[in-house]
Amino acid sequence: MSQNYSEQAAYYQAFSTGYWASEDAASCPCHGQGYVLSEVDTWHECPVHFCGQLHPDALDGAPEGFDAQALELESMTAWAVKRGLASPLPIAVNGADEVPQLVDESFGDADIPF
Ligand SMILES: [Zn+2]
Repeated sequence: MSQNYSEQAAYYQAFSTGYWASEDAASCPCHGQGYVLSEVDTWHECPVHFCGQLHPDALDGAPEGFDAQALELESMTAWAVKRGLASPLPIAVNGADEVPQLVDESFGDADIPF
């Protein structure tokens, strides 16, 4: 019994290293989604493609019509910010001062017809 457990533990440990990952999303076991389910039924982040995606079980029991996409963007933004990376949602992390202003240059002083 304990041998079976340690075999599973060894498998889990090995799987956790992410050795299975591939740069190419099409051939990576995570299919570019960022998570892989191991044979012992545990989810693992793909070291190549995980970038803050929601955990596959995160939305279990979520109400119908729940905005999963917004939650995932929020999660990915938090992940990127934590690592000092550019955010997929620049407006959410930039200060209000950095919101571009619409400057209407079609009316210069010289254009005023009176
Ligand atoms: Zn992957």
